[in-house]
Amino acid sequence: MKRNKSKRNRAVIGGQWGDEGKGKIIDVLMEDADINVRPTGGANAGHTLCVNGKKYVLHLVPSGIVRPSTMNVMGNGMAIDPRSLCEELRVLSEAGIDWKGRIKMALNANLVMPEHFVIEAARESGKGAVGSTMRGMSPCYTDRTARIGLIVNDLLNPKLLAEKLERNLEEKRFILEHFGKRWVKRVMKHERLQHGRFYSNDGFFNLKEIVAAYTGYGRMLERLITDTDTYLREQLGKASMVFEGAQGFVLSLDYGSYPDVTSSDPGIEGLMKGAGLPVNAAGKVYLVLKAPAITRVGKGSFPTEMGGNRSAEWCESHKQADEELRWPSPNINSRDEMEQGVAVRRLGGEYGATTGRPRRCGWFDAPLARRAFEVNKGTLILTKLDVMSSCKTLRICTGYIYEGPRIRWGETELRKGTSISTAITREEVLAYCNPQYIEMPGWRDDISKTWTWRGLPRRCKQYVARIEELVGSEVSGLSVGPDREAMIWR
Ligand code: GDP
Repeated sequence: MKRNKSKRNRAVIGGQWGDEGKGKIIDVLMEDADINVRPTGGANAGHTLCVNGKKYVLHLVPSGIVRPSTMNVMGNGMAIDPRSLCEELRVLSEAGIDWKGRIKMALNANLVMPEHFVIEAARESGKGAVGSTMRGMSPCYTDRTARIGLIVNDLLNPKLLAEKLERNLEEKRFILEHFGKRWVKRVMKHERLQHGRFYSNDGFFNLKEIVAAYTGYGRMLERLITDTDTYLREQLGKASMVFEGAQGFVLSLDYGSYPDVTSSDPGIEGLMKGAGLPVNAAGKVYLVLKAPAITRVGKGSFPTEMGGNRSAEWCESHKQADEELRWPSPNINSRDEMEQGVAVRRLGGEYGATTGRPRRCGWFDAPLARRAFEVNKGTLILTKLDVMSSCKTLRICTGYIYEGPRIRWGETELRKGTSISTAITREEVLAYCNPQYIEMPGWRDDISKTWTWRGLPRRCKQYVARIEELVGSEVSGLSVGPDREAMIWR
């Protein structure tokens, strides 16, 4: 391991709806760190790193893997699909990354099993669909709280795996009866379910096949499986760690815009719990925010969305190729906000790393950032500052006016016209929040090659100062491009 004088730890948290560019920040911080810990989430999240012009998309493996001589830990809060992990390791090997001996996976992390994909497909076929990524995350985490979940360590014990699986499947069979054999059989033809190999006419699931396949994964992954909680506790003070947030704070199950949230807590508490460490072991906390444009993937309220509902509907039902046909060269200064949103998406490459879905784009939302800061504290890192360089006028949402039906919110009552300065991140409120904007002039110069604070245009510095003032925390880092070098520390 590298020698790091300070041995300080750092945590990187997304302050919005995910995709804030955390992967790049983690990669930069790992330059002088020993251990990268990914405590929560699963293959539904994706980080994209650019190293020497080469692009790496990671879903489960921590971003630090691209830095030789780092240790990479997958923590107990993760939901791990062993099939996806084996595939990711294969891709890393092909890319020439030597990961052997550099990854540890928590024996007590949650295990994503075949039934989780089927149950997710069942849920997504109904009204309650939340636009999930179909990676089995939500049913996996549900099983944990229902106390019928499996853990990674079960991959090493075939008998235990079979027993736990049998118990786990009991309830699922009742649910799947409702959908019928034909439906289940069709869903189970999916390649993630080994093209029907796991299907059985008798009770839907072929236990023998599943146990054989999953103990096979166990054999491939056995060298990674260990008690990471103890390992990380032992390393405290000896090694410097970077804790890697997956998704963004506003998607937190505990604090986010429920119910359109993810199944874990990407905030600081969730992160440290998923690493098996106390919150005060996090060290310095960085809250990563995209600015001037933010994004959201999937369903749910997005007060500052450029183009409002039109944009939401478009993004739900179209692909990047459709968009390129409809808007061959969108204008970032268009008076049509929908087109402006398309231009931001194109300039920022805002298409999901895991799903390829177009991300909905909107203006920087200070009430939302204030909420993220209130809970996580830390200093701010602004990313993608280069994307809107050619935009003449930048808007910042400074507060909301509530426009919905009367609703009691604890001891206060929200009614039409109520001002909200820190976002109430629950769908029943956020859905009726009308953003109030200020406008600032854009800087018009390309800043993607400006890697010093002094070199930034005056208007860009004024913009950053305004964000600091509105969120109530200092900006300690600015990212002005995808590459490692395109980073300004203050
Ligand atoms: P994460 O999940 O928060 O790591 O974010 P993603 O990986 O989904 O999305 C970030 C994307 O933006 C990746 O393609 C990065 O290479 C890219 N990126 C990160 N920081 C910057 C930046 O400052 N400017 C630009 N133009 N791209 C960036």
